[in-house]
Amino acid sequence: MRLVRHLAGIFLLSTCVLAAAPGEAVKRTLLVEVTGIPAKEQAKGARFDYSDYNRVALLSLVRDRAMLLATPAEAEALKRDGYQVTVIAENPDELALYRRAFYGASLKLPAPYHRYDEIVARADELVKLHPERIARIQIGETTQYHRPIYAYRVSSDARHSQPKPGVMFNGCHHSDEVMGAEIVFTLLQKLVLEYGTNPEVTAWVDRCEIFLVPVVNVDGHDIVTSGRDPRWRKNARDVNGDGVAGVFPEGVDVNRGYDFNWAMGGTDRPEKDSYRGRHPFSEAENRAMRHLAELKPFLLSISYHSQGEVIYYPWAWGAQAAPDDALLREIAGEVAAKIPTMSGGGTYAVSPGGPSSQSYVWLYGRKGDFDFIIETGKGTHLFAPEEVPGIIAANLEGVRALMARTDGPGLAVRVTDAATARPLRAEVWLPRIENETVDRRATESEFGCYWRLLRPGFYELIISAPGYEPAVFPGLVVAPGKWTNLDVRLQPSSTAK
Ligand SMILES: [Zn+2]
Repeated sequence: MRLVRHLAGIFLLSTCVLAAAPGEAVKRTLLVEVTGIPAKEQAKGARFDYSDYNRVALLSLVRDRAMLLATPAEAEALKRDGYQVTVIAENPDELALYRRAFYGASLKLPAPYHRYDEIVARADELVKLHPERIARIQIGETTQYHRPIYAYRVSSDARHSQPKPGVMFNGCHHSDEVMGAEIVFTLLQKLVLEYGTNPEVTAWVDRCEIFLVPVVNVDGHDIVTSGRDPRWRKNARDVNGDGVAGVFPEGVDVNRGYDFNWAMGGTDRPEKDSYRGRHPFSEAENRAMRHLAELKPFLLSISYHSQGEVIYYPWAWGAQAAPDDALLREIAGEVAAKIPTMSGGGTYAVSPGGPSSQSYVWLYGRKGDFDFIIETGKGTHLFAPEEVPGIIAANLEGVRALMARTDGPGLAVRVTDAATARPLRAEVWLPRIENETVDRRATESEFGCYWRLLRPGFYELIISAPGYEPAVFPGLVVAPGKWTNLDVRLQPSSTAK
């Protein structure tokens, strides 16, 4: 029966191909599972080469099992070549095959994944139970449906902003990469619930203000988690303005919308996966993240994505390394070394990422935040439910490594007016490190504070604010293993009133 159908398929295929206009896409009507794929056939350029943007036919390749779309002829060819092939579904509608592949037979996103309203409801419950520990802050609303985008602040006194270094974790710039939401949501609960009993967590929360954005791209996340379309990566913007949003492949890639080398990032073609929008910060999701970064300067942060089991740090920009290249690499390496891969045979890799329009280069270049993209898991954007706890646990080990850095070494500066003791917003510049590829770092105006990670050693430091004499430290010593505190009182300049 199946053979007859496949033979008919092959016949149809050949007539289709003959009839098809040049360049017309092959119509694949089968969802096929192939098991027992050896590692050598999963390598770059091999038959089962899964890479980020090749989602046309090979949907996933987790461990030795692939899910792919195939024509009947392609499925037969795989069988002929000795692969273990099972046809899971047959449907002329490609979306139906995608949904079956990623959601399983129920066609719904299974537990333990969460919808955004479930994440918000649980976080709200924690805010109600522990208002001193966690606060909800609306940082913006989505581009298309104006849904609120929330950040949560976890701190020893979450009701008030405090003079402590900030750390931030965000998930789901790309909405099909839902693991980020699950990791950040798990971390959020851990921080609140283990404070006071887990000494490590208690130390982090006492030492830092920790901001968590489980989902940046809330509209896209809803398209994926509601079961509508598991491929959805971009936001839900109705790009062509026809009044119908959420029709694949519409939307803007919100991880290409930041204004750092914006025109070098993604593409200006709206139908593409990496469409960067019409101008920097055209998307409300990016403006929400900018609002957050202006609310609190971050020392360190992680933007979670999937997939690849690799950490990207800023940046690979021709021959020009980032000003903090050595330290960024060191921290990325420390975090990566603690995150086991799914295969158990190693830990995450480390790589410099491109310098364009993504969150991590913008956060680093413009805001002085050491942000890292972590590509969680391997072989798909949306993992089978049984893989989820393992990937979360692995990445919580990476969080531990990152948080260990919040204890220094580095420079903790407090700048005040020498006459009035008022905290000042001042530029804090290390001229031998921070070249013109990065914006000047500054203290928070509310507290006059600034934290900056540095390797132990000697540094030249210049602190300046309009109306004040700059303070120059030509040979500042940053001590190993702790924060080096510097209390700076700026004298009003003689020309100032
Ligand atoms: Zn991504």
